[in-house]
Amino acid sequence: MAHIQWYPGHMAKAKKEVQSQLNAVDIVLEIRDARIPMASKNPMLDEIIKNKRHMIVLNKKDLADPVQTKAWVEALSNENTQAIAIDSKKLSDMKIFRQALKDFTQDIQDKWQKKGLLHKSIRIMVIGIPNVGKSTFINQFTKHKKAQVGNKPGVTKGQQWIKIDKDFELLDTPGILWPKFDDQEVGDKLALTGGIKDTHYYKDDIALFGLELMLHYYPDAIAKNYPIAAEEVTPPYPELLMKLTKNMGLLEDYDRAADRIIRDFREGKLGRMTLDRIEELSLYTDDDAKT
Ligand code: GDP
Repeated sequence: MAHIQWYPGHMAKAKKEVQSQLNAVDIVLEIRDARIPMASKNPMLDEIIKNKRHMIVLNKKDLADPVQTKAWVEALSNENTQAIAIDSKKLSDMKIFRQALKDFTQDIQDKWQKKGLLHKSIRIMVIGIPNVGKSTFINQFTKHKKAQVGNKPGVTKGQQWIKIDKDFELLDTPGILWPKFDDQEVGDKLALTGGIKDTHYYKDDIALFGLELMLHYYPDAIAKNYPIAAEEVTPPYPELLMKLTKNMGLLEDYDRAADRIIRDFREGKLGRMTLDRIEELSLYTDDDAKT
């Protein structure tokens, strides 16, 4: 999908659009990237959705560190919010997700039943920052389902409700919100995971950032995947990148080496890695409070 330039005007518009659709939905599915559960969050999300029922979907689970993901799911779940990790490309994960959604919304159905509203479907919308997998998720979740015809209240022109089954209806277009880009580290994490257009950062900066994080959290990954001895995998990082470039047979083409490291990371070739760390949860919480 196209990358969006976020200017204050666009941010205000995106916020308004999401808010106008919220009236028509019963539950918001907020998609985040399981590798960066905090950096892939919109900083104003809570303010935007207020007390709307909310489920956090940590997507791209297949690329993230399973131990970290399990802990993040627990940390992000509370009385009002249910978190779940999935790989949107996997049909079996979608089935698990559907059951979790049903359990999480059972009380809404029960309430409607008591009022005699027997055939009402729970209405869902998907929101999230660019590139977290919103479209992939919607496509999988609505596979073989047809959009409903006819006008329904609260739906912007061009949007449609898709009936999933007797329980759920999903808005076919996601709400797109902006990431927290006033934070350098968030920006670097988004760039490394593929959430920022590649003309907006220097490849070698992002590769160096990736090398540093890997050395810190996944110290074996570099020597295991690249032609370099384990004892040579040390800071300073620019020198490490120079060595890797040479050993990859790329002479002094640091840009190409950087590109390869970034691509390998994104495709999960270096292992399943999580960059937002659960052991640093308190830092994020403080940070969240400030935004
Ligand atoms: P959107 O901008 O939020 O709508 O994101 P897209 O649905 O376009 O997905 C962005 C990229 O992530 C695409 O290349 C997808 O194939 C990929 N993607 C989406 N979900 C998953 C997932 O669960 N696992 C993996 N490995 N890739 C995914």
